[in-house]
Amino acid sequence: QFPLGRRLPCDIYWHGVSFHDNNIFSGQVNKFPGMMETVRKITLSRAMRTMQDLFPLEYNFYPRSWILPEELSLFVDEVRTTKDSNPSWKPTFIVKPDGGCQGDGIYLIKDPGDIRLTGSIQSRPAVVQEYICKPLLVDKLKFDIRLYVLLKSLEPLEIYIAKDGLSRFCTEPYQEPTLKNLHQVFMHLTNYSLNIHSGNFIHSDSVNTGSKRTFSSILCRLSSRGADVKKLWSDIISLVIKTIIALTPELKVYYQSDIPAGKPGPTCFQILGFDILLMKNLKPMLLEVNANPSMRIEHEQELSPGVFENVPSPVDEEVKVAVIRDTLRLVDPQKKKRKDLHLSFHTYLLIFPTQLQSLRAGVAGMKDKQHKHHSLKLSLKLKFYLKLGSCQSLKQMPEASEELLDAPRSLEAALPSLCLKQVFPKYSKQFSHLRLVDRVAALFIRFLGVKGTTKLGPTGFRTFIRNCKLSNSNFSMAAVDILYIDITRRWNSIDKESGMCLQAFVEAFFCLARKKYKLLPLHEQVSSLLEHEPSRLAALHGKRLLWG
Ligand code: ADP
Repeated sequence: QFPLGRRLPCDIYWHGVSFHDNNIFSGQVNKFPGMMETVRKITLSRAMRTMQDLFPLEYNFYPRSWILPEELSLFVDEVRTTKDSNPSWKPTFIVKPDGGCQGDGIYLIKDPGDIRLTGSIQSRPAVVQEYICKPLLVDKLKFDIRLYVLLKSLEPLEIYIAKDGLSRFCTEPYQEPTLKNLHQVFMHLTNYSLNIHSGNFIHSDSVNTGSKRTFSSILCRLSSRGADVKKLWSDIISLVIKTIIALTPELKVYYQSDIPAGKPGPTCFQILGFDILLMKNLKPMLLEVNANPSMRIEHEQELSPGVFENVPSPVDEEVKVAVIRDTLRLVDPQKKKRKDLHLSFHTYLLIFPTQLQSLRAGVAGMKDKQHKHHSLKLSLKLKFYLKLGSCQSLKQMPEASEELLDAPRSLEAALPSLCLKQVFPKYSKQFSHLRLVDRVAALFIRFLGVKGTTKLGPTGFRTFIRNCKLSNSNFSMAAVDILYIDITRRWNSIDKESGMCLQAFVEAFFCLARKKYKLLPLHEQVSSLLEHEPSRLAALHGKRLLWG
C-alpha cells in the first residue's frame, strides 16, 4: 500500500482482488488480467463445454451444465429426452447465480420447471448443473476439497499444486436429495460461510477433526480403509491441468490486451483455489475455480451473543501459510538472478512494513466485512513475515529488518521443503494433445490487429480467412461475412459489445473445420484445420507473443 504514491518499482506486487494497475512496467504481479472474468461460473462452464465437445471422455470431471436464461429451452429439452430414453433416471439439479460466491442464491431442483426466473437474485444469469447425488461421505457428512494451485506462468505454461488442502464439511448428515430435504443447505452445501452459522459447526484445533480439516488427514483415513490414494492424487492433478488448459485461451487474450507483447510490462502469476468434490467411487469432480481464494487464517468466534472475536485457525494456517511462502519462493526474482541475496529480503520488506502498521490499527475497529477480510489477509502476511525471520513481535520489526538483511542465507536454508509441487510442464506430454483451443486462440490474437482489444472486427475475420486460404468456390467471401454476422450477433446479444470475442471465433473455427473435414471427430477436424496450409499457419504461430 502506497498512500503517498509509489516511488520505486517493486520486484513483486501483491494485489488484493484483481490485476488493476496499468502503471507497472516491470517485476511480477500476483494476478493475471481477466482471471476473475475467466473463472466466473458462466465463463468457466462455457470453456469446459468447448473442451467437452472436443474431448468428451477427458473432460467428464465437470458436471453437465446449462447457461440460464439463454439455454433454458435446451436444458428442458435435453432433460426430457434423457428421461424419455431412461425412465429410471431421477436427476437433481443445482442452480448457481453467475458471479455468486459462498453459496449465495444457490438452490436445488428436481424438475426444470422449478427454475426461478423472477426476483432479484433469480433474474441474474446463472448456471444450472447436474447435482452429484452420491458424494463420498466421511462421518456421514458431505465435504469438498479446496486445493491451492499456483499458475506461475502462462507461456510457457507452468503449474504447481499444493501438497495439502482443506476439506470443508457440511454440518447435517447427508441424505440423497428428495423433495423434502432439497432446501437443507447444511446437508447439501459445503460452504464454510454457510455452515459456520449452523449450531453443529465444530471448530477444532486439530487438523483431522471438526468441520474444517486438512485434505491430507482425509487421505490418511481413506488410505487406512484401503483406498488407492495415489490414483486419486493422479486424477486430481489431471483435473487441475485439464481445467487450466481450458482457461488459458481466454487468459491469453486478456493478457495481450492488458500487457501487449513488445512493450515493457510485468509478468504475472496467481494462486487459484480449486473446489473439488469426491464422488463415492473416489472420482474427483470440479465444482469451481476461485480467482481470489480466501487466505484468512483466523476465524470468527461468538464469545457472547453478538460479540465476535477473531481466533487463530490452525488448519487454515497449516495449509495457507505454506502456499504463500512457497509462491514467494518460486517467483523470487533473486532466484533467477542469483546476484545479490540481500536484495531478496528488500523485496519482502517492500511488501510488508506498511501493512504491519495498518494491521495494528486495523482489525479490531473494522465493521465492514470486506475491510475486515482484507485486514485478516494482512495478518496472514505478517505471520508469514514472522515465520520467515526471527522477530517475535510487532515492536521488534524495525530492528529486526536490519537483522534480516544480515542473515538471508541461513533463513533460505532454514525454510521447510516446498509444499508446491510442479505438475506442468512435468507431465506436459500427457496433455499436449488437449491444447487445441490454445492454438485457435493464437490465431485469433494474431488477427486482432490493434493491440489492446479483445474483439475481432469483420475486416480482421476476412483477413484471417484470406490468409489461411479458407475461402473457395464452395465458400465465398459473402458466405464468410454471413458466418461472421450470424455468430457475432448471437454472442453480442449476450455480451453487448460489438466485434467477435474469442469464444465466437472458436465457434466459427469449429464450424469451418466441420465444413472442410466432414467425417472426422470434432477434435480431428479442428486439428486438421490448424494443420491446413502448414507453411502459412506455422509462420503465424508463436510469432506474435511473448508471455510472462
Ligand atoms: P459458490 O461459489 O457459491 O460457493 P459453488 O459452485 O462452489 O458455488 O457451490 C457451492 C456448494 O454447492 C459447493 O461447495 C458444493 O458443496 C455444492 N455443489 C455445487 N455444485 C454441485 C454439484 N454439481 N453437485 C453437488 N454439489 C454441488
